[in-house]
Amino acid sequence: MRKILIYFILLIFICFSIPIIFTSNFSERTSAQKVVENEVTNPKTNEIEDSEYNYSKYGTVKLLHKDNNKVEELPIDEYLYGVVSAEMPASFEEEALKAQAVVARTYTIYKIIHNEGKHGDADICDDSTCCQAWISEKDRKDKWDDDEKESNWNKILNAVNSTKGEIITYEGEPINAFFHSNSGGETEAPIDVWGGSGYPYLQSVSTSGEDAYSQYSSEVELSKDEFVEEIKEVHSDFEIDFDEEDCIKIEEYTDGNRVKTIKIGNLELSGVEVRTIMGLRSANFKITIDGDNIKFEVTGYGHGVGMSQTGADSLAKEGKTYKEIIHHFYTDVEIESI
Ligand SMILES: [Zn+2]
Repeated sequence: MRKILIYFILLIFICFSIPIIFTSNFSERTSAQKVVENEVTNPKTNEIEDSEYNYSKYGTVKLLHKDNNKVEELPIDEYLYGVVSAEMPASFEEEALKAQAVVARTYTIYKIIHNEGKHGDADICDDSTCCQAWISEKDRKDKWDDDEKESNWNKILNAVNSTKGEIITYEGEPINAFFHSNSGGETEAPIDVWGGSGYPYLQSVSTSGEDAYSQYSSEVELSKDEFVEEIKEVHSDFEIDFDEEDCIKIEEYTDGNRVKTIKIGNLELSGVEVRTIMGLRSANFKITIDGDNIKFEVTGYGHGVGMSQTGADSLAKEGKTYKEIIHHFYTDVEIESI
């Protein structure tokens, strides 16, 4: 294979993750639960040279089960059945499930190639807030009604098997295939979430139809006292006078329509940090002072980078194929067989 030098700068994440999106029971976060996904503690630049990738060696995945700390080695497609069924409802369109299968396969292989020993000998873990969700066939089927167990499972098998060996590449290399639940209509460039230099294939794109999903809008309301307390836990020098005009003011938005910077009292915070502190579903929010309370109206769910899962389903409903869905969310990529 010819050598290809990657010219763009890669971020190395100590811990990046996929949001808790479509867990088995569609559980919803409450405002009390903190969003800890995508925490970047040590972004640094790196230059990686193609090292004669031999994809046949990625036939199996060493999966770390976080609950018992055991490592299980699984054939990659068998592993992917558990990922697709944990990450996306089987009720979604077949083309959306296929897109999810290719994205998850790409994400997995990227993890194997760029393994930094974060999980010892394992390539990836089953914690959705760290790597990528996974559920066993038995546990998955136990959560479905009897009359849909087989048809649902067959839909998952078909999504993985009919896209066997396919991954997303950019300039010949597997991409870092981020995905999230609901973009709120616009996906986000990673530079506006984690800083550093962006990936050229992850641009902000618009998707229609995402407002039809329950993940699209949410609200968090808390008292002024609670609001102050939450911020003081992180910034002990925080002060605010609610009588002052513009004591809370959004100063800048990102290309993806999320809050980039916001002035709150004596602080200037990023939208991502406010999302984390307040446990919001996304950094696309409006904030209002409502009597003694502070109210956040939030649009979308997740970091907003890469494929939106509800957006994928929405596009599939419009008749788009899984390949068209992938090309919609990832710019200038190819879908190749490995
Ligand atoms: Zn992990």
